[in-house]
Amino acid sequence: MIELKQVTKQYPGQALPAVDQLSLSIPEGEICVLVGPSGCGKSTTLRMINRMIEPTSGSIKINGNDVMNTDSDQLRMGIGYVIQQIGLLPHRTIAENIAIVPRLYKWPKDKIKKRVEELIVMMGLDPEKTRDKYPSQLSGGQMQRVGVARAMAVDPPIMLMDEPFGAVDPIARTHLQDEFLRLQKEIKKTIVFVTHDINEAIKMGDKIAIFNAGELVQFGTPEDILTNPKNDFVENFIGHDRVVKKLNLFHVEEAMQPVGCIVREHELQGAAQKMRDTGAEVAFLLNEAGISCGHITLADFGESGDDSERLKKRVLRTEKAFVQTTTSLPDALSRLLEYDVDYLGILKGEELRGMLSFKDIRKHVYRKEGE
Ligand code: ADP
Ligand code: MG
Repeated sequence: MIELKQVTKQYPGQALPAVDQLSLSIPEGEICVLVGPSGCGKSTTLRMINRMIEPTSGSIKINGNDVMNTDSDQLRMGIGYVIQQIGLLPHRTIAENIAIVPRLYKWPKDKIKKRVEELIVMMGLDPEKTRDKYPSQLSGGQMQRVGVARAMAVDPPIMLMDEPFGAVDPIARTHLQDEFLRLQKEIKKTIVFVTHDINEAIKMGDKIAIFNAGELVQFGTPEDILTNPKNDFVENFIGHDRVVKKLNLFHVEEAMQPVGCIVREHELQGAAQKMRDTGAEVAFLLNEAGISCGHITLADFGESGDDSERLKKRVLRTEKAFVQTTTSLPDALSRLLEYDVDYLGILKGEELRGMLSFKDIRKHVYRKEGE
């Protein structure tokens, strides 16, 4: 969809180019994150896509059309653009701010009004309380939402977002990220997203382009990059907790294994035999109501075998050791450590769907390593 070929930007009077011989294909309908340290050329790259900055050499094509052959006003009106400073006009209301581009397109008044309402709702804001306010009357998070709404006003297929959630506190930022990812599942825009934060890149990106000093160092999915960082720069940029970051890409659903042995609580005594028969290391227990209530391992039976009070205590220790299928792997790992258990039961609602051990997490994380 967006194709950069050998793009270089040399600002006058600068020793080195801000962007150097950059070639990059940005796929349609995905979020492509440009990430790297401050000054590495991310914003320059972004702004060359909508011709706010013109490249010194090289070509940028959108759907096969060279941006340099496209009228720059037309080009910019057709591409949503969100920046960290948000850039709302202070003396215009929120509704007027969102309506800027539709007005340039000379949409009829009622169509604009309808679209503005729709966008305010889409951004999780209340139209009654929002539309007639001025930007200074909103919180940082609300302003960023309005910034995104404005960029989406005419439903452009492409959005350029330059540190769009940078100006808010970490909690509001997490909310904005989550909401935006949810929205993107529906709108499927082609998004070029700039950040200097590797965690944000990993979370938001279908693809990540890592920049250093004007050059593209590595391009790939978050999993590719976390699995096989191309060089020391990428490795350092990701940080020492590379594998823990990789855990964040997965949910327990993907890493769990089936439960091999299920016994009723009142059959606890017979669990060891059943485990031996089925070759299972662990049995999950259901209470009279059929609800999962814990697990027991072969090791818990020990030598003496049948001391039922002791066994019950062992089971009781695991009564909280359950998580839902949608839990992230880092959260599951934390639970394994918190409850000091070797297994977690994986539930969907109340139904036992699988189990997860340290070993399963390890296997999942390394499944592509070293390929
Ligand atoms: P990033 O967004 O990755 O922080 P930029 O693309 O803004 O980086 O800048 C890349 C490099 O180009 C930096 O060294 C910056 O100082 C320089 N630069 C950016 N804009 C200009 C400009 N208008 N004139 C001269 N140098 C610039
Ligand atoms: Mg920048």
